[in-house]
This record gives sequence, C-alpha cells and structure tokens, in this order.
Amino acid sequence: MYFHKDFECMPRADIKKLQSEKLIKEVKYVYDNVECYRKRMDEAGIKPEDIKGIEDLHKLPFSYKSDLRDYYPYGLFARPLSDIVEIHASSGTTGKRIVVGYTKNDLDMWADCTARMLVSIGATKDDVVQVAYGYGLFTGGFGLHYGAEKLGLTVIPISSGNTERQIETMIDFGATILACTPSYALYLAETAEKMGVVDKLKLKAGIFGAEPWTEEMRKQIEEKLHIKAYDIYGLTEIVGPGVAFECENQCGMHINEDHFILEIIDPETLEPIEEANKVGELVFTTIDKEGFPILRYRTRDLGVVQTEKCKCGRTFIRLSKPKGRSDDMLIIRGVNVFPSQIEEVLLQNCSNGITANYQIVVDRQNNTDTLDIFVEMAPDLFADDMASIEKLQKQLVDRLRSVLGIGAKVTLVNPNSIARSEGKAKRVIDKRKLV
Ligand code: ADP
Ligand code: ZN
Repeated sequence: MYFHKDFECMPRADIKKLQSEKLIKEVKYVYDNVECYRKRMDEAGIKPEDIKGIEDLHKLPFSYKSDLRDYYPYGLFARPLSDIVEIHASSGTTGKRIVVGYTKNDLDMWADCTARMLVSIGATKDDVVQVAYGYGLFTGGFGLHYGAEKLGLTVIPISSGNTERQIETMIDFGATILACTPSYALYLAETAEKMGVVDKLKLKAGIFGAEPWTEEMRKQIEEKLHIKAYDIYGLTEIVGPGVAFECENQCGMHINEDHFILEIIDPETLEPIEEANKVGELVFTTIDKEGFPILRYRTRDLGVVQTEKCKCGRTFIRLSKPKGRSDDMLIIRGVNVFPSQIEEVLLQNCSNGITANYQIVVDRQNNTDTLDIFVEMAPDLFADDMASIEKLQKQLVDRLRSVLGIGAKVTLVNPNSIARSEGKAKRVIDKRKLV
C-alpha cells in the first residue's frame, strides 16, 4: 500500500527530473532569502543560475551543524516569523540545541512524509497508534502525530515516560502500533513482561527510530512484543521523522526523494561516493521546504545506499545504517570502535543470561584508555553460581576482543541496576571528554 503512489513508485528518470526542477527553484529561493547561504555561495563564486539540475548539486557549499548554532535561533530561516507556525529544536544529543521553523506548507509536507511511513507498514484507519516519542520541542512526537492524524488513524498522544501507565494505556485503548525510540520499546517490553501482560497487548507493529539500533535489537523487540519492528530515520535539521522509512520488507529505509536529495560522501575527501553499498556520510538537501530550507547538510551520520528495486514497488532508494554517526565513534587506544559493534556482540549473547541493558564507560588511566562494559544479567543467571557468571564474562571479553581488536573489561551487574531510557538511550559515558 502506498500513500502517494505516483511519487513513491515514480520511474527513476522522472524522480531525477523532479529533483532537478525543485532544486533549481530551492537554490534561488535560499540565495534570495538566507544571508548565510548567499554569502557562502558568493564566496565560492556560485550563482543560483549555475545550478541547472542535480548534476550541479556538488558545486554548492556544504552546511554544518555549527551553522545552526552560529545563526541561533532564527538566522537560517527563509521566512519571517509571521509565516512560521511551529518551532522545533533538536534533543541536543551532541551539544547546544538547534532550532528550526515550519510554515503551514512545511507541516503539511512533514505530515505527508510520516503518513507514507505509516501506510508502508500497513497502517489503516482502523489502527490505534500510541505515540510514545516525546512531544514538545523534540520532533518525534508531533511528527508521528501529524502523519497519523492525516491518515485518520486513532492517535494516543501519550508522549514518553510513565512506563507502567504506557502499558496499561496500550492494553485499555487497544493500541495496535507503537511509535517510540527502540531503547524505549525494549524497556516497555521488559516492563510488560514483568507485569505479566504481554499477551494482553494488541500491538502488531512498531515504528522505531531517532537513535542507532542493531538487527539484534530488532530481533529482541520483535520477539518480546510479538510485533514487526520497523526502522525510521530522520533529523530535526531536515524535517524530523519522515526522512526515510522501511516498508514491510524491512530491507533498508526508502528516502522520500521527492522532498529530500541524498548524497553520500567520503567524509575525508568530501568526494561523492557513487557506488551502492559503500559506507559514507549522509548529506541532505531539502527541495520543498519554505521555513527552514537547508543545502548539502553534512549530517555526520554514516550510511549505505541500496539502489536495486525493492519488492514493494517503491522506486525511492533505500538507506541502511551500518554503524551510526561518525560523532559516535570512539577512539580507544587508537582503535576506532562503534558502540553498535559492542551492542551486536552483547545482544547475540542475550539468550545466554544477559539482557539488552548495557552501558559503556571509557576513561583514561595512567595515560591509557580503558573500556568498561557493564551488562545486566537476566534474573536466572543472577541466581546461578559465581562460576557460570565468570565464564560468561570471559566469553564476552573474548568475543569483544575478536570483533573490536582491543581488550575490554566486562562486568555483569545485577538485574535492574542500569538506568532505563524513555527517549534516546545514553549508552556511552566517555569520561575522557568530561575532564
Ligand atoms: P540530536 O542530534 O540532538 O539527537 P535529533 O533528534 O534531530 O537530534 O536526532 C537526529 C539524529 O538521530 C540523526 O542525525 C541520527 O544520528 C539519529 N537517528 C535518527 N534516526 C535514526 C535511526 N533510525 N537509526 C540511527 N540513527 C538515527
Ligand atoms: Zn520497499
């Protein structure tokens, strides 16, 4: 099922043509209305007329998260506040928060994007969606809400938090779709298990995003909640949730290419990566936005694009995220380590007595980096003898060494001793950055 079949299944040549037409207009609009881009283009000797289609996109200067901070709060808006009907801000995972604004048309386009992702997982008017993403300045809650509302789904705008109440609400109101961060979905699953009510849930699907998560994590959530778990990708700077979404085939997230152009670049050389299946940094250009348009935004997120046709019939290219954002990468004793690599190893061992609740602590002692991983035991292992706990610890250390190429200390801790997250999980504490 599609929401906008004409766009979602458009022949590739037509998508490129549409993107080109929109890009030409958007670049002129941005040049005329946003000082930062005008200056930067002038400095680079580029005039809007030089952009004749997507083949010229690479000529435009990049934009960065620091621009949003430098022009805080409204300096990058292309419209006066009188045209802006809503403000959102990023959750501030990596530093000072950044602010974006939407016109009425922007909100409508955003709702279309999130409606598409709900339709693509089979949602209909009969579905009841519990939106447990945070409402407020964070884009998650409202983004999902607007799409669900547009489709005529029944929305439970509960926001995040109050976990037992969430479960009661899901049961009492008959929620069939859950929308929240994957870490919160796991916490909800764990709570439902503890309350002994998993079989009272009517959930059939979940749309989870806003933070990196692994296939192992997907498996866990699907098994625990008896649902299909779909990945969605978005970021405040571009629109919020709705930039890319999985279809029922769960094989990468279709990018809403009629609204956003994705380039993949090598973050070192800044050259475009043309080949499919090669990891690079995601760079987005919006081609329909009025309030907060953005050109060649370097997301710092790493991803891979798949261009072969999807079984669902959509022609939009698909994004798969191998590792998370380059900002997440830890350099430990000179070795690059992504938290997702650690998560993969831990979750592969989940049935062996540990849970998916973990925390990574990096520190520096005597000029040497240390990597400590705390993982919660499942209650049955906790009740077991010390020898089996030590054996599992050792197994995990060996496995991590072979995957990461460096040694880590693993400590299995008591059940429920690691703080749960209701929004984006804070898995890594890098004490080196704190001093
Ligand atoms: P913040 O940068 O403060 O976290 P946002 O709420 O806008 O602000 O988060 C956007 C970021 O969240 C993306 O740039 C990306 O790093 C991450 N993200 C969003 N969706 C996903 C997803 N499905 N998988 C991995 N990371 C994601
Ligand atoms: Zn598909």
